[in-house]
Parts: sequence; C-alpha cells; structure tokens
Amino acid sequence: MPAWYEIIRVGKVPYGKGVFAIRTITAGETIGKVTGKVIDDPEYTSTYCIDLGDGVKSLEPRGPFRYLNHCCEPNAKLFLHETVYEDGTPGPTEVTVEALCTIEPEEEVRIDYAWDIVGAIPCLCGASQCRGWIVDPEQLPKLLKKQKKLTERDKAPQKSK
Ligand SMILES: [Zn+2]
Repeated sequence: MPAWYEIIRVGKVPYGKGVFAIRTITAGETIGKVTGKVIDDPEYTSTYCIDLGDGVKSLEPRGPFRYLNHCCEPNAKLFLHETVYEDGTPGPTEVTVEALCTIEPEEEVRIDYAWDIVGAIPCLCGASQCRGWIVDPEQLPKLLKKQKKLTERDKAPQKSK
C-alpha cells in the first residue's frame, strides 16, 4: 500500500481543512489507514471521532484523515477491519479510507458522516442530493418530523397571560 502522502494532501477549504487527491484514485482503492487515539468510553463524542462498531470504543483520528469532510454524495468511505493477534486473541479494529468511485486529482475526498440524530447539524455540502442535514440517511425522516414539529411550535401564536 503506498503511503498516504503519495495519494492525498491536506488543503484548505472555506471552513477549515480538507483532504484532496494529488493523483487519480481508482474506485475501490485504499487511500490510507486512519490512525489516532482509541478511546474506550461509550459516552465519548467529538466532531471527528469514528465509532469502532462495538458501541464502546471510538477512534479520535490524527491528520491527514482527521480532515476528511462530510458530503451527502461521498466519493470515499471508512471501512472497519477486525484484526487478530498471532495467538488468536482479538486485536484493535483498523479503519481504512477507500474510494467509492474514481477521484480526480485536486478533487476533495469526502465521506458521509452519517451522524446519529442526536448530533445532526445542517449540511452545506452542496451535493445535488444533499439531505440538508449531516445525519444517518435512515434517521433523516425522523429528524425532519422532529424539525417540522419544532417549526410549528415556533409559529404557534403565543398565549397571552
Ligand atoms: Zn449535504
């Protein structure tokens, strides 16, 4: 596997940093392995942390992949890989970034954060299929319903005392 810096670079985007391809990345290609600090706390949350799938541990990524931005039509995805030590005991879960389609040089590499409804924030990714929210697509209908209720409540005439 080539080193990440032969494939991508960290660059500026209007609201911070992003990850950009420096050469053509083919669909299915592994862009790199996400490294960082494993946090063993189910309550832990941050903008960048990656749920390691067991409901307890999460990975707080280091650069460059810390700077992967969200897009509702992503061109890359995170994959979790179980590992085992030589003696057969389970090892740490590894996370890789893989291309979902061909990514052209200088194109931003983005993933779908698919956040839980609890952490959902409005999305400005600009994709034609943008969901309007950074949220798990499966939870979007629930979120929109909740938002509609909130808007209706705000519009309701105030009761005078
Ligand atoms: Zn979006």
